[in-house]
Amino acid sequence: MYKNFDFKKSLGQNFLIDDNVTEVIANSIDYKDDNLVIEIGPGSGVLSKKLLKRADRVILYEIDTRLNKILEKELSSFDNYEIIWDDFLYRDVKNDLVKYKYTNLYIVANLPYYITTPIISKLVLEKIPASEIVIMIQKEVANRLSANVGSKEYGQITVLLDYYFDIEKVIDVDRKCFYPIPNVDSAVIKMTRKEKLEKLTSFEHFDKLVKDSFRFKRKTIKNNLIDRYDLSIIQNVLEKYGFSLNSRGEDIPYYVFVDLSNELLK
Ligand code: SAM
Repeated sequence: MYKNFDFKKSLGQNFLIDDNVTEVIANSIDYKDDNLVIEIGPGSGVLSKKLLKRADRVILYEIDTRLNKILEKELSSFDNYEIIWDDFLYRDVKNDLVKYKYTNLYIVANLPYYITTPIISKLVLEKIPASEIVIMIQKEVANRLSANVGSKEYGQITVLLDYYFDIEKVIDVDRKCFYPIPNVDSAVIKMTRKEKLEKLTSFEHFDKLVKDSFRFKRKTIKNNLIDRYDLSIIQNVLEKYGFSLNSRGEDIPYYVFVDLSNELLK
């Protein structure tokens, strides 16, 4: 199928060739009635076909128009999709969604790894209302995003995402499951939006507090925050949850950071 295709490394064009992996990814979504799926980066459509079998409708965002013929051929037996030939990162997705009627939105993405963070930030900051996001990322990053509090992978990004989502790893994906073979292993994670969010006085303040708390990874909360926050307020909140000023950022669950941020702003 790829005989004449000139794969672009710069677009992360490593296509999945393992049927079991595409099956697991497509099955990881909990399809509810009246659904719409966004697939970012369909490539040659191997995963798209599986999504199309299960979803009511799929919107595909693909940056590389050279894939036009392959995609059209691969998806010829389906009529429940649209392809938007554009860069997802700069696309006004909320505006695209206006013309669709749906109750449940899901996003699936297998993209170049250097845009993992910008994509996740876009989905969160632009408030694209997806209830589940299933995304293929570099294995080490997957471990960090799905890390449990107290583990060494738990960091600033884990806390921020934990505020919005429940995060679980779906499957580890060996580099041999792709063509051409990339030089890293991957994993798929699923982010399920929480139905109810804790009240946060200011997301910007919470974001900054979390960043500052992880400024020097090995330092305690006290040493990371001493020069810019009221430590007596921080101590009171931490003690409420059984922590102290000598705890480290990696020991503290996101909801304690939420409480800390709200108390500091009172
Ligand atoms: N989903 C297919 C699969 O699993 O085999 C292809 C995955 S391949 C890793 C990434 C795909 O994302 C490529 O087809 C690439 O052209 C596309 N892509 C890269 N950057 C993109 C962007 N900013 N917006 C939309 N598509 C992008």
